[in-house]
Amino acid sequence: MRFDREGSNVRRTKIVATLGPASTADNVVLDLVRAGVDVFRISFAHGDIASGIERLRHVRELAPLNALMVDIPGPKIRAGSFGASPVALKTGDEIDLVEGFDETSNASRIAVERHDVLHLLIPGDRVHIGDGGVSLEVIAPGPTTRARVVSGGTVMGKPGLSLPSSLVHDVLPTPEDRERLEALRQENFQILAVSFVRTAFDMVSTRSVLSRPDVMMMAKIETAEGIDNLEEIVQVSDSIMVARGDLGVRLPIEGVPHLQKQIVRIAIRYAAPVVVATQMLESMTHAQVPTRAEVTDVANAVLDGASAVMLSGETAIGDDPVGVVLAMDRIVRKTEEYFDYERWGSELGVQEASGKNSPAFRVTAAITGSAWRAAMEERAAAIVACTRSGATARAISRFRPPMPILAITPNPNTALQLRSSWGIDDVVVSTATDMTQLVEIALGRLRTTGTVHSGDVVVVMAGSSNVGASITDTVRMVIVP
Ligand code: PEP
Repeated sequence: MRFDREGSNVRRTKIVATLGPASTADNVVLDLVRAGVDVFRISFAHGDIASGIERLRHVRELAPLNALMVDIPGPKIRAGSFGASPVALKTGDEIDLVEGFDETSNASRIAVERHDVLHLLIPGDRVHIGDGGVSLEVIAPGPTTRARVVSGGTVMGKPGLSLPSSLVHDVLPTPEDRERLEALRQENFQILAVSFVRTAFDMVSTRSVLSRPDVMMMAKIETAEGIDNLEEIVQVSDSIMVARGDLGVRLPIEGVPHLQKQIVRIAIRYAAPVVVATQMLESMTHAQVPTRAEVTDVANAVLDGASAVMLSGETAIGDDPVGVVLAMDRIVRKTEEYFDYERWGSELGVQEASGKNSPAFRVTAAITGSAWRAAMEERAAAIVACTRSGATARAISRFRPPMPILAITPNPNTALQLRSSWGIDDVVVSTATDMTQLVEIALGRLRTTGTVHSGDVVVVMAGSSNVGASITDTVRMVIVP
């Protein structure tokens, strides 16, 4: 059944935008905020660490109400830059691969930013460039490896190179990641996206090297091993990214839509925000309107239950970053009119919601399940989540309730992190601890924004940490005076 959200102008699915050369200017960042970006992603795969940190600090100042996601590259191998204009690699052409950093690439010679891999290649191995469109077949390996273009196309910037996965078995964090994590330890950001996660241990060890309990750890699922170990990885991560670019290179591309659904479902079971990423509006890197297929893809990601949808090259190197965000915003809002809220919540059920087998997780699942049912039956005007870490808000968000969710937290960092969670429409920061006072503050805000009126029912949830773990153990129904 469709829940009537007519008149609501709040988008529930969040938008992540990657910053890059096309979005360095202050006015572009500010326009992106106005266009509806919730989370800015800053990749630490390109450029030196100091300039990445300088950028991070500057964006933090420009956009104080947005969450900042830092993305560390893991064992991703990149090509030396092809420059800012597209370079054509033609099917059938032969090309040299050489190892070296800070070198440029062109149509006849590609610099591979790594020191120890070319000698491991054997004739017939495939090397994919970028997100899979262009691939090479190795003819003669060696310090200068000769390869033939078997699938041509254009490349630009510093695309990733995918070598046969048996060659690259780096444990996370890589030495380069460690250097970044150490430099980032004092910085003000909310989410760390970890690339090429293969095991739960990769996440545990990266978390311990960063050593920042206030940062949400996001596992990028983009390898076959990441899929094999998905459930264990989700259990030790705070959020998940369906990194479809590398996923579609490392696994058969026709499996990507189904893996997307599987990853989204498991992440939601554990109340982890899940971002669907890569090539969502790819053609808009240069075109003014998206293709029908792209519009359908963004809509389907929303219908699959994504917490957020992400733009990569579209906002980092595209012609019109702001126009792309506006297009994505329109597609998401339209799709949300068709989202089957009742069916989602009832199919999720408490059973699936109680993925983690700890008493704290099961109690939270039971209470949020009851809160969802009560809110639906009473057609509540809003849900209020009193939350220190954000866990209570995320726990109700996974039920995808049609009514607005207001989070109230003492922690400004939690408020920023909730920008990546589906349906957390507003956040109030307050140090009040008394439940009656919290409810008063929340109702005040909901009245001011015109969300609730006298006589409406509001469902309020609160947590405690009485067993040493975050637990949502209270639900109240309040009639607005
Ligand atoms: C991806 O591979 O889809 C991805 C998001 O990773 P990156 O953009 O860092 O290559």
